[in-house]
Amino acid sequence: PGVQLPHDPSKKTLVILGSGWGATSLLKSIDTEAFNVTVISPKNFFLFTPLLPSVAVGTVAGRSIIQPTRFITRHKKRRVAVVEAEAEEIDPFAKTVTFTDTSAVKGEVATKTINYDYLVCAVGAETQTFNIPGIQEHAVFMKELNDAIKFQDRVIDCIETAAFPGQTEEEIRRLLHVVVVGGGPTGVEVSGELHDFLHDDLSNWYPELAPKMRITLIEALPSVLPMFSKELIAYTESTFKQEKINIMTNTMVKEVRDKSVLVRTPDGKDDEVPCGLLVWAGGNKPRKLTTDLMGKLGKEKQNNKRGLVADDHLIVAGAPDNSIYALGDCASTPYAPTAQVASQQGAYLARVFNKLGKRDLLATELDTVKGELEKMKAESGVDFEKDPELKNKVTVAERAVEDMGKVRPFHYSHQGSLAYIGSDKAIADINFWQRKFASAGVMTYVFWRSAYLSTLFSLRNRTLVATDWLKVKLFGR
Ligand code: FAD
Ligand code: NAD
Repeated sequence: PGVQLPHDPSKKTLVILGSGWGATSLLKSIDTEAFNVTVISPKNFFLFTPLLPSVAVGTVAGRSIIQPTRFITRHKKRRVAVVEAEAEEIDPFAKTVTFTDTSAVKGEVATKTINYDYLVCAVGAETQTFNIPGIQEHAVFMKELNDAIKFQDRVIDCIETAAFPGQTEEEIRRLLHVVVVGGGPTGVEVSGELHDFLHDDLSNWYPELAPKMRITLIEALPSVLPMFSKELIAYTESTFKQEKINIMTNTMVKEVRDKSVLVRTPDGKDDEVPCGLLVWAGGNKPRKLTTDLMGKLGKEKQNNKRGLVADDHLIVAGAPDNSIYALGDCASTPYAPTAQVASQQGAYLARVFNKLGKRDLLATELDTVKGELEKMKAESGVDFEKDPELKNKVTVAERAVEDMGKVRPFHYSHQGSLAYIGSDKAIADINFWQRKFASAGVMTYVFWRSAYLSTLFSLRNRTLVATDWLKVKLFGR
């Protein structure tokens, strides 16, 4: 009863966990003819994360940067099942995955276990909190679409509460102070976008409050954006100074409270900083599903805290019969956890599976032929092993099958790093013809916009985002 998962017993079953950068890139290019493909993800859409900070301040609408996963799968040659559920347990030895409907509406059946021949783990990562007290209760993250929507609500709420008649000056100062923790690209982009919102829009709507609005970016390391070149770090810091974004480096957040944040300052003292809203962008940590799987595969093979150890073919160490692949933020590979890496790995895995699919079909055909030859031998005594020509043909076919399974290792081609820093300025470390260029300013912002517009997955997304940008220019956020 009910909707069935694709099941052709002559084909192998491929289960893809996730619908983010890695999984979507794989789904886009894989030939689904050769497999029974099922995608399992708690989100039935792909989220274009680079524009998430723009959604947080209303420059771009949430729906403009999401793409339903079924939008991709419905164009596939063979049906691909999309299941909105969270994978909760992987048994790498029995080759099963158990998933549960974790959405608000559940039916009578909400948990299921299925078998796989190949499993692709592309579940991404979650935000690292280092178990610092108060983050889960009081901070806003910037990882999922809901985080950006929550941020929008909270910023407006802080401003309206500050505008409440009779609010004390001290309380207004607190309510209008937004603290962003984490000087990585997420924290920097959120600060830059928030600055634009305050500068371009709030000054018109709340002229008496806008000058009192403050943004502070807190970073534990000596500088923000350690992955960018030195001149771009200096450019970002000086732009933030002009934008009146206060950067506190060498400052470690120790606790997040309801109305303040407790920090350890560079001189080793504790300080309590009052704030109305705190955004936590402290980096990545593996999901529970990932750490559970690592535990099952054993510490000897899985010994990297960043995520699943996979080889240069993205095959997970310790998984039997090369049956599990990992890519993107859930994998520990030599590359940074970026969309660029995850999407290239997804495209690579599509090529791998397209080869494996052909190999598996050929291997099945060869097994059938060999079965027929064995039958002939049993029935009429004709032994193909003794016929040199026939034996040679079988050996050639066996080698062809073996060769088809051989694929080159994954090779990452770094196109560069881009980040928006507010006031229509962006920074870029670009790799071009094996040379590196650092660029910053308004022209880089134009490049940033065109690069992101062309990277968006569909014409629908590109049109919606371009229209949003135009609407903001004409009518504000
Ligand atoms: P994700 O894209 O996170 O996808 C993971 C998927 O797994 C999601 O669909 C999720 O719903 C699903 N999932 C989660 N748990 C389960 C489960 N238990 N079972 C099944 N599915 C599950 N990188 C860049 O290169 N350039 C940028 O400009 C950039 N900007 C960014 C801006 C922000 C605000 C953020 C947060 C990140 C940004 N990144 C950027 C990083 C980039 O988004 C990640 O590196 C990328 O998303 C990793 O892809 P992924 O497929 O591994 O994971
Ligand atoms: P990140 O790991 O790059 O930065 C997190 C920062 O938080 C670190 O610098 C860390 O020192 C700081 N931090 C952690 N705990 C702290 C504490 N208690 N007090 C003060 N500071 C603390 O994380 P991110 O910015 O979310 O980025 C994650 C990944 O996504 C990275 O690989 C990044 O390159 C990628 N990304 C790229 C872009 C882009 O290219 N434009 C944008 C966003 C994210």
